[in-house]
Amino acid sequence: MTTAIDGRQWVKITQAMAEAVMTQRDHLSALDSTVGDGDHGVSLAKALGEAARQATALGDPSPESVLHTAGSVVQNTMGGVSGILLGAFFLGMARAVTGRPSATLSDVAEMLAAGLSEVQRRGKAGRGDKTMVDALAPAVKAAQTADAEGQPLVVGAQQIAESARLGAKSTKGMVAKFGRAKFLGERSLGYQDAGATSMSIMLSALAETLKGDA
Ligand code: ADP
Ligand code: MG
Repeated sequence: MTTAIDGRQWVKITQAMAEAVMTQRDHLSALDSTVGDGDHGVSLAKALGEAARQATALGDPSPESVLHTAGSVVQNTMGGVSGILLGAFFLGMARAVTGRPSATLSDVAEMLAAGLSEVQRRGKAGRGDKTMVDALAPAVKAAQTADAEGQPLVVGAQQIAESARLGAKSTKGMVAKFGRAKFLGERSLGYQDAGATSMSIMLSALAETLKGDA
């Protein structure tokens, strides 16, 4: 069973994230078009596809180099606020794992927390503001709890994914305070946030990849 995620597995995870977002691209864009400009699924799928291609081409991938590649590509190619914030998320994860050959559950908890803190440093959103933070913050908590309980990595990853899924779902009942959706005010109620949904999809891809490797 996998106890730590090495560079090669981060490449596989990046590929799985790209595939999962590609599969749900139209659903994500539809969510974004109810409140935003409707490009979220298409632009994230494209950016992650390119990130996966570049990560696959790395000669001797480390967790840091793969996540740094993903962050730079997303930041440079996706555009929009979500491109900057999702790029910052991957770059924060990369920095937190610098110099380590692989990431244990404890490392993953640290990396996700660093990613969240980058997103919040730049975007200023808190929980309840109907953004990707509402999926990511519970995922960080789940990672820390699973680590403290001494859960195996694969189990921890499932709990991370499940918490992100529930967090994303909970945005349906929230009024947007950030992004284009905030101009809708109360009319943003009833729609699941696009950025929270894509975060949940990416973290599920991480969990599924580890499950497949187990
Ligand atoms: P863009 O279309 O410029 O990428 P949007 O305003 O449509 O940006 O927002 C897309 C997603 O980015 C939202 O669904 C939300 O999850 C996330 N987002 C927007 N603003 C913020 C913020 N300040 N902090 C965290 N996430 C944000
Ligand atoms: Mg948008």
